[in-house]
Amino acid sequence: MVSTMQQLRHSLHQAPELSGTETHTAATVAAVLSTYGPDELYTEIAGCGVLARFAGSRPGPRVMLRCELDAVPIQETNEFEYRSMHDGVSHKCGHDGHMAILLETARRLCEQRPESGEVMLLFQPAEETGVGAAAVRDDPVFQEFQPDYVFALHNIPGYALGTVVVREHAMCCASRGLIICMEGQTAHAAEPECGVSPTTTVVELIDFFQEIQARYAKPGDEVVLLTLVGASIGNRTFGNTPKHAEIFVTLRSEDNATLDSIDEEVRARARELCEQRGIACRFEVDDSFPATRNAPEAVEFIRQACKINAVECIEPPQPIRWSEDFGHFTELATGALFALGAGEDHANLHESHYDFPDELIDRGADMFLAIIEQVQQAIRTGRAQSVA
Ligand SMILES: [Zn+2]
Ligand SMILES: [Zn+2]
Repeated sequence: MVSTMQQLRHSLHQAPELSGTETHTAATVAAVLSTYGPDELYTEIAGCGVLARFAGSRPGPRVMLRCELDAVPIQETNEFEYRSMHDGVSHKCGHDGHMAILLETARRLCEQRPESGEVMLLFQPAEETGVGAAAVRDDPVFQEFQPDYVFALHNIPGYALGTVVVREHAMCCASRGLIICMEGQTAHAAEPECGVSPTTTVVELIDFFQEIQARYAKPGDEVVLLTLVGASIGNRTFGNTPKHAEIFVTLRSEDNATLDSIDEEVRARARELCEQRGIACRFEVDDSFPATRNAPEAVEFIRQACKINAVECIEPPQPIRWSEDFGHFTELATGALFALGAGEDHANLHESHYDFPDELIDRGADMFLAIIEQVQQAIRTGRAQSVA
């Protein structure tokens, strides 16, 4: 039987919206939340964001739980009834499921308010583009309700359904899209020696990415990846040698400082090579995510919540390679992001036939409520290190 919350997830799945344009999704979420009687409900946080506050009867810590509103620019290939109605846009990261988990959490908080303190539920816009969390952080409504603790989850294919995956410190990598733009001088294709072509420089820089990466390839080293995602040289004019070139490379590391240093190293080599050859170069940055760092204290609450729910808790030796803009929140408050197994053979995130497993809706809410309970208990018994 399909539960109400599953139906809700399916209707969110059917009407996906891209980052920063989540107006219909936000309106749906706000309408559902209002039926659960939050003490306060704010909309239009940093664009389409929605924030609901559930207060307990006694003072205590303010715990924020976050999910994401946005879908991705991928054409869905599933044929089920609730498939995406929007061409080229679909919920391939499972954010529809994360929203359902937070709505289920709201439903249960409505039945039983937090014992003390308060719970803030944040439905964040524009996670996929890496701009949403920072925009929420700078929003005056969010600033009025600065949380003491922050938690979020992301479903993760490749792990048994419902298993929790978490680690202390680096949880998800930092990443940055670096664009290197080069401008030489064109010549007649019959006299290439008269022009300044950026071709050799492009090839040498691509080799240089491999060289940097190889330096960090030893087992036990931190994650460092320079992934070439695109490049272009010249255009389809057979009479001319190329003048322009662009390289698109995604830099990735578990550590923000390492990311900055490989970025600087790439730029310095590009500047050096271009200068030698009389090529002008400039840089642009797109899709920038800080590393998501989990506070040990917050990870301990997650471990305890796993015990309460009799869920296996896996602590992998290396951080998850993908990036998350939740790192902006763990820089502000004690917090952690954990992953929730979507099934060992489940389609991967961002694959065209991926769909969020509905079984995780209740399990995700179970985890969040147990975490809230753990935080409150720690504050009551004076075990918490971080406040309130
Ligand atoms: Zn995604
Ligand atoms: Zn995602």
